[in-house]
Amino acid sequence: MGHVKGLKCRECGREYPVDPIYVCEFCFGPLEVGYDYKSIAKAITRKKIEQRPQTLWRYRELLPIDGDPLVGLASGFTPLVKADNLAREIGIDELFIKDDTVVHPTLSFKDRVVAVALTKAKEFDFDTVACASTGNLAHSVSAHGARAGFKRFIFIPASLEASKIVASLVYEPNLIAVDGNYDEVNRLCSEVANKYRWAFVNINIRPFYAEGSKTIGFEIVEQMGWKAPDHIVVPCASGSLLTKVWKALKEFKQIGILKELDTKIFGAQATGCGPIATAVKAGTDVIRPVKPNTIAKSLAIGNPADGFYASQVIKETGGYAEDVSDQEIIDAIKLLARTEGIFAETAGGVTLASAIKLIKAGRITREGTTVICITGNGLKTQEALQGHTMMPHHIKPSLASFEGVLGKISRGD
Ligand SMILES: *Cc1c(COP(=O)(O)O)cnc(C)c1O
Ligand SMILES: [Zn+2]
Repeated sequence: MGHVKGLKCRECGREYPVDPIYVCEFCFGPLEVGYDYKSIAKAITRKKIEQRPQTLWRYRELLPIDGDPLVGLASGFTPLVKADNLAREIGIDELFIKDDTVVHPTLSFKDRVVAVALTKAKEFDFDTVACASTGNLAHSVSAHGARAGFKRFIFIPASLEASKIVASLVYEPNLIAVDGNYDEVNRLCSEVANKYRWAFVNINIRPFYAEGSKTIGFEIVEQMGWKAPDHIVVPCASGSLLTKVWKALKEFKQIGILKELDTKIFGAQATGCGPIATAVKAGTDVIRPVKPNTIAKSLAIGNPADGFYASQVIKETGGYAEDVSDQEIIDAIKLLARTEGIFAETAGGVTLASAIKLIKAGRITREGTTVICITGNGLKTQEALQGHTMMPHHIKPSLASFEGVLGKISRGD
């Protein structure tokens, strides 16, 4: 029923069976899912996809599952919003927002990857799922895992935003707060994954998990009327999402769903954790690890596993990358809210602020269509805006008090 041929090493090309494994035994390169595109091309058409429910599973032939989807049956297919107000403000002709602030059930794009990972974990017959998370993945594994009946071990840096911790705990996983940054959490999790037979969504089943990110790319193409935009701006933590958005477009081209493909892919990072942007701007293939220091905690991976591959996609497509300060992130969050009524988390601020810089520098041209990927909801990182928003107008419960304020508002003071 599935169309997966097997796993394949990205470096040396060695092939492996479909198992919960993620590195090549010979060269230690990462493994990736390979498909039989000939059979997929026969199995799906635009029309067939359009008739299916509006979830990420409408592209199931291009996802690494053997049977029916089992987790995240309402995830994906988020709005592609035409952002005319914002476009005018930042000086660009046609701008769209891929709005993953509203993915079911935990309001970030991680619900996509986890839907695929946990379906695969069921196919592999795991009873326990786990992850190393910068916050959003913790929410998604906790929530999807609760409904699917898994035991859950969630590892996070202890320094995460308080509201992000509560939003994991509510699903009652085993939440392990580690004294250390994400890269240290990840290292610990690799050791744990070697010892226990658990499905670590971003370690031993990472090849399957990562495929879920392609669904953003598939949806963008379908929602643009089966056309690929000229530019797509993607936020980077490990760099996986960026590589998979590109893989999605290439796959649609390969199976004939997309007639033309000439899209440039752009990376967005915080200056306080921008190893991929730094490498792209310096024109080098070497990703130098950094110690993260940014309010964009969901993107704070100092040693990005897919950083090299992300930089290659950016180079191959003629894109570029930018990085932005904490203040630019906050300003962009507010700009997006004020112009389009969308409240993004810090990662969204990174994406928009980077896009603005890329437009100013002429890397993204004013003409043509641009899509920016807004990947998480602002209600999750309200701390970031503390002290950076307007204050409410404080009044007594009387009409006179209200009209006093109304007078001030009308005079504009
Ligand atoms: C995880 C995450 C990303 C990007 O993740 P990659 O590791 O680069 O695939 C982007 N935005 C948000 C909000 C995230 O949580
Ligand atoms: Zn290899």
